[in-house]
Amino acid sequence: MKRPRNFASDNNSGICPEAWTALEEANQNHAPGYGDDRWTKQAADLIREVFETDCEVFFVFNGTAANSLSLASTCRSYHSILCHENAHVEQDECGAPEFFSNGTKVQLVPGANGRMTPQGIESAVLKRTDLHFPKTRAVTLTQATELGTLYQPAQLQAIHRVAKKHELKIHMDGARFANAVAQLKVAPKEITWKVGVDILSFGCTKNGAPVGDAVIFFNHDLAREFEWRCKQAGQLASKMRFIAAPWVHLLREGAWLRHAAHANKMAARLARGINRIRGLKLMFPRQANGVFVELPVAVIAALHRIGWHFYTFIGEGGARLMCSWDTTPEDVDDLLADLTELMANRKKLPAPKPGQVQNH
Ligand SMILES: *Cc1c(COP(=O)(O)O)cnc(C)c1O
Repeated sequence: MKRPRNFASDNNSGICPEAWTALEEANQNHAPGYGDDRWTKQAADLIREVFETDCEVFFVFNGTAANSLSLASTCRSYHSILCHENAHVEQDECGAPEFFSNGTKVQLVPGANGRMTPQGIESAVLKRTDLHFPKTRAVTLTQATELGTLYQPAQLQAIHRVAKKHELKIHMDGARFANAVAQLKVAPKEITWKVGVDILSFGCTKNGAPVGDAVIFFNHDLAREFEWRCKQAGQLASKMRFIAAPWVHLLREGAWLRHAAHANKMAARLARGINRIRGLKLMFPRQANGVFVELPVAVIAALHRIGWHFYTFIGEGGARLMCSWDTTPEDVDDLLADLTELMANRKKLPAPKPGQVQNH
């Protein structure tokens, strides 16, 4: 059965209407290349308005580039960067942060529900302070986290205090920053520069844009020569206006928050439904647009057989269900109906063959 939409990833969604219109508008006449166009300028101005500060803005092709190039600008090769064990930076970037920073060590910090704590950060810093181990220089936080949870403003303030104490720069991976802002209902500044974030990787690909992430420097010193770093890494878009234009429409009309709030709402609906199914329980609190649930492997295999697509990379039986800007209540209810039926009949389901449950 072919389903029009699925729960595999929020990046499986298409381009939202606002971004599509922007691309059509930007596709008129000629415009200068490499970011000297009016769309890029306007997108950067709108970002400064949204964050209510005079930050520096650069556009790159994706989140891996945004994260690894911005982390490289915080560190020298003999430094280390702290991140959560489940961070995209560690798990899903093929070593790009280490590569672009010429060998900076990425050090893992454990923490419940995908979040680091000030204590976790401090003990990682203090574990080794001798000359034979890299010196910790930066910490990177994901907001919303890879496990669908959020850092509350007070948690960010506490991390800021420990970062200040140990002279750590703070980077934020905001691939789902919009989902965090929509859920927390705070001004973007309250969870970024006001709590010491030096650099934000702001992604919109999972929220309706076609391609391209913004790298936002609240700390101007770190932005020094960043355009050369981007160019050398192959991240300076020649027709930059097609990366920037969607941002103009998404930000100007508030669509970035509307779409994110919708995705969060669909995930809340899904989480509520799952909580009502006997025998199921969420693995982490649902705080953004992802729902994580432990499922019997036979049920996972049966869902895959009838055409539902989702990933199960959080240990044996852990399913990740992502909602996006275009997920409908009917999509959610259809999945819940199938899940309810399969759970009720799970004893009769065939045991999956080894390797049948796809892992990433
Ligand atoms: C999707 C994602 C990114 C960006 O990934 P790219 O595929 O490189 O655009 C970064 N961080 C997190 C947490 C993500 O989920």
